[in-house]
Amino acid sequence: MVTMGQLTATLDPLGLTIPIVPELDDLTVGGLVMGTGIESSSHKYGLFQHICTSYELVLADGSSVSCSKDENPDLFYAVPWSYGTLGFLTSAEIKIIPAQRYVRLEYHPYHSLEDIVKAFETESRRPDNHFVECLMFAKDQAVVMTGTMENGCEPDKVNRHKLLFSDIVNRVLFGPHKEQQLNVISKWYKPWFFTHVRGFLKRGHGTEYIPLRDYYHRHTRPLFWEAEVRMLH
Ligand SMILES: Cc1cc2nc3c(=O)[nH]c(=O)nc-3n(C[C@H](O)[C@H](O)[C@H](O)COP(=O)(O)OP(=O)(O)OC[C@H]3O[C@@H](n4cnc5c(N)ncnc54)[C@H](O)[C@@H]3O)c2cc1C
Repeated sequence: MVTMGQLTATLDPLGLTIPIVPELDDLTVGGLVMGTGIESSSHKYGLFQHICTSYELVLADGSSVSCSKDENPDLFYAVPWSYGTLGFLTSAEIKIIPAQRYVRLEYHPYHSLEDIVKAFETESRRPDNHFVECLMFAKDQAVVMTGTMENGCEPDKVNRHKLLFSDIVNRVLFGPHKEQQLNVISKWYKPWFFTHVRGFLKRGHGTEYIPLRDYYHRHTRPLFWEAEVRMLH
């Protein structure tokens, strides 16, 4: 079935997206409906099944059946979390919403459990936050990230997908994150996303613009932190 990577590759150039894009490229619509999916926009849109409006399944007797909230509703509400036990999912209708080109991502580091919980709850309730995510690095060390979709970032930063001499000078003089900048995090030479985020614990608050598709798949390369764990053992 269609993967998240295929979906975003198709929808992104059209300026569209699905409201919830679980982060790993290879997760499939079938697996996310049957085993559920959650993402940093779930505080707004719920779980993956909540953005699906109908399913088509092949049942054990070989028959094909459609279901939605109006047609075979019992089956429609039983499909999520059923792990393939009710039938084989052959198609799903999923809501689509307009997308913008970049995510303006703010990194807020916290150093106490109380502050982390308070910030995460407050940010999750703010309607203007399209994305809210918290990465915990220890019981009392976390970075809460809040994001909004934007069509432009600072004009002089839009096409800077290459590291320019002026970038290097700025980084030497002012440090890497003292200005709002476009960060194309999917580039091979970029640090794994979770290590990049960890840096804000020392660096302090920061803001960056990330291309939308890079943001969606930010955890694909390191499989969150599994790649590091596997390399060390
Ligand atoms: C490293 C890692 C990171 C993860 N991160 C996230 C995350 O950030 N957000 C999140 O929401 N989830 C995450 N998950 C969980 C993941 O979303 C679920 O495990 C999801 O079900 C996997 O989807 P899949 O396409 O790989 O499905 P599979 O693992 O292949 O299948 C999952 C279940 O669905 C059934 N199934 C799959 N396709 C169909 C079909 N067409 N018809 C009927 N049954 C079917 C399978 O039989 C199985 O029971 C993560 C998992 C891992 C391993």
